[in-house]
Amino acid sequence: MSKHVGFIGLGAMGTPMAERLLKDGYTLTVFDVNPTVAQALAQKGAQVVASVQAVADAVDTVLISLPTPDIVKDVTTGDKGLIHGSKVKTVVDLSTTGAGMAQWVHAALAAKGIEFVDSPVSGGRGGAIAGTLAVMVSGQHATYERLTPVLKNIGKMFFIGDKPGMAQTMKLANNLLSAAAMAITSEAVGMGVKAGLDPSIMIDVINAGSGMSTASRDKFPRAILPRKFDYGFTTALMYKDVRLCLEESQALGVSMPVATAVRDIWKRTNDDFGGDKDFTNVIRVIEQSMGVEVKAKT
Ligand code: NAD
Repeated sequence: MSKHVGFIGLGAMGTPMAERLLKDGYTLTVFDVNPTVAQALAQKGAQVVASVQAVADAVDTVLISLPTPDIVKDVTTGDKGLIHGSKVKTVVDLSTTGAGMAQWVHAALAAKGIEFVDSPVSGGRGGAIAGTLAVMVSGQHATYERLTPVLKNIGKMFFIGDKPGMAQTMKLANNLLSAAAMAITSEAVGMGVKAGLDPSIMIDVINAGSGMSTASRDKFPRAILPRKFDYGFTTALMYKDVRLCLEESQALGVSMPVATAVRDIWKRTNDDFGGDKDFTNVIRVIEQSMGVEVKAKT
């Protein structure tokens, strides 16, 4: 496939993914509603255009990394969406949107002869910078193979299935586990601190024992114990992922009581501390209810 692709949505994830493509010699035509992030990428060689449609007129393959399902719907199928572009033939969605939205967009674009591939990613901004994301792809297998040269730059690829939305279901299952680990590790460590334990020693023990997760391994040491709250993923996005997972369980007719409790703690984090704040603020909800502070002793 051509080494000229489009990229829309240059945020915490989009910019480092786009930079990896530039490093591999790709020519990128990019757009973001925030001109500052687009100009920053222009410094690294990307061609910045003024609209979504200008991207779709310039290339046959467009990658998108956008915050919410509604924005993905608008950018792909809205009045000024990719669907109206003269050249685009394949849209690869790296965002987390849920299976229902992926199926809807797939059908709308297919009616215009454009293939939509859902390809959500996991591994955070660090994984995007290092090119070590888990890249989950659903769509035609031939398309998966055609996209491999470009997507292998951002991480390890997994073919999830041939039906639209399957990769989104995979991603939501993964992120439910991440959201649950953050919430339950916060409760467990909060309880220990209330009893007089040192939270740094607790995290060391958990990481040497059976309670270990990415919350205890990465997020507590880097962003919670030093009270930085700057891991790089917003509370709004985490809350969105758990909500989408529960919407999917409803659509499937299965009940998920543990996920429901996890959703409630993220709703409180979102309401009390703000969706734009880092998701590690979840511990503050627990700290308030327990009357403790989970902080490394200096
Ligand atoms: P972000 O908010 O940092 O970036 C989104 C970018 O999209 C911003 O630059 C914004 O200006 C741009 N944008 C918004 N509306 C637009 C529009 N209409 N047209 C063009 N650009 C528009 O979000 P992010 O953290 O980079 O996440 C992107 C997606 O990846 C989300 O769906 C998220 O759930 C998913 N994701 C994020 C992470 C993470 O750790 N941040 C990890 C895995 C998956």
